[in-house]
Amino acid sequence: MTAKTFKGGVHPPERKDATKDLPVVRVLPSSRTVWIPVTQGGAPNAPIVKIGDVVARGQRIAESDAFMSAPVHASVSGTVKKIETHLVTGNVDALCVAIEDDGSGTTLFMDPLDPFTCTPETALERIRSAGLVGMGGAAFPTHVKLSPPKGMKIEYLIANGAECEPYLTIDERTMAEHAAKIVDGVAICMRITGATEGIIALEDNKAYLVPILEKAIAAQRAIPVGAGAFAISVVLCKTRYPQGGEKMLIKAVVNREVPSGGLPAAAGCVVQNVGTLKAISEAFREGKPLIDRGLTLSGGACAEPKNVEVPIGTLVGDLIPEVISLNPGVCKIVSGGPMMGIAMKSASFPVQKNTSGVLFLTSRETALVEESPCIGCGRCITICSCRLAPVLIARAIKADDLEEATRNGLMDCVECGTCAYVCPAHVKLVQHFRIGKHMVRTKATAKAAAEAKKQAAKAASEGAR
Ligand code: SF4
Ligand code: SF4
Repeated sequence: MTAKTFKGGVHPPERKDATKDLPVVRVLPSSRTVWIPVTQGGAPNAPIVKIGDVVARGQRIAESDAFMSAPVHASVSGTVKKIETHLVTGNVDALCVAIEDDGSGTTLFMDPLDPFTCTPETALERIRSAGLVGMGGAAFPTHVKLSPPKGMKIEYLIANGAECEPYLTIDERTMAEHAAKIVDGVAICMRITGATEGIIALEDNKAYLVPILEKAIAAQRAIPVGAGAFAISVVLCKTRYPQGGEKMLIKAVVNREVPSGGLPAAAGCVVQNVGTLKAISEAFREGKPLIDRGLTLSGGACAEPKNVEVPIGTLVGDLIPEVISLNPGVCKIVSGGPMMGIAMKSASFPVQKNTSGVLFLTSRETALVEESPCIGCGRCITICSCRLAPVLIARAIKADDLEEATRNGLMDCVECGTCAYVCPAHVKLVQHFRIGKHMVRTKATAKAAAEAKKQAAKAASEGAR
């Protein structure tokens, strides 16, 4: 099998050896309390429970009518103790529902549903009801991803098992331990979208998983109805960061380009993380909403790195020291991988639907170097897999010229961090891009609000005549 790839990117030290062979173990927070953010991807939800309510595991606790939203469910059975803001990934405070586990394990799941006999609309509704969002990082509501705009034909359903971030091994373990569920999830998504080809894509540092996945595909194919009726194969990609980015994966696997500002659907593709595909299968076969999350706990300051599964809402701090034993010298706590993750100010933040790992890094593993002036070496331009000119975008943002930054592709940047990784001047490129994007969006929102106000005033004055 020849490994496919894309142009650009880097190969940082993988640092996956500490956990890649370790099975995922189920652990619980020492406080027996979970803090579940009411919104975890998509449009904002509102709580539908109140303090003192007794809830079951799997019971819906927050929702919204907006199509772009995904409901949130209780991950433990117990009593709602608080509904208040708490620190979450991103170092912001967000509204959370705190539930104290009563240990009863009472569940309130949906009834199982056959994804191959129900209508695609019913299947999409099931995915939404289960609160499914992309577990690979973006937390985009899954039912929205599986509903491409009218006129866009989906040909390929790509399962993203690249897991290109250093340290992280939870997708790898999910493929090793739950291959059948992933294949089932691929087939379900193919039926919903009408995709004719399903491809499970992984980097060649995980080539040993190919026979495991192919065995699961063959087992499905042996029963040529339901999931067995769908054409699914495995493709190896070169180990290269950011291979797991949607645009890079599509380019490597089917050699198509996602247009600037466009969706993967514009290239005839839908990409789903392998963890999400497992959760899709469970939402149908077991009626289980997205309430548990596997993640990697690693980093040089982590005495015993491991892969764990926790109820969503578990505070990372509530795993220390019982589950996470730390060596002296923790320099940085990162939610996610070292390239795209967020450095957190404390460990007291909850695991969310898209938390793929938490890293405890030492000073030797972190680049806490001050930014110095750009030396114009052009390395960032050579390396960017989105074919942008990071140095020019950053220069425009610094000059407060958002139009120029946008012209240079600011909004096409996927914030992979590759340019910052190679920059010899340690220019904090991604930080500049995040600030720039925020400013562009704020400006667009203000402009839309001013336009709406103008239209309303015009309509009122015409009505008064
Ligand atoms: S400009 Fe954006 S997409 Fe390109 S390498 Fe930098 S962070 Fe990645
Ligand atoms: S890599 Fe850094 S120093 Fe080189 S051109 Fe880009 S921003 Fe400037």
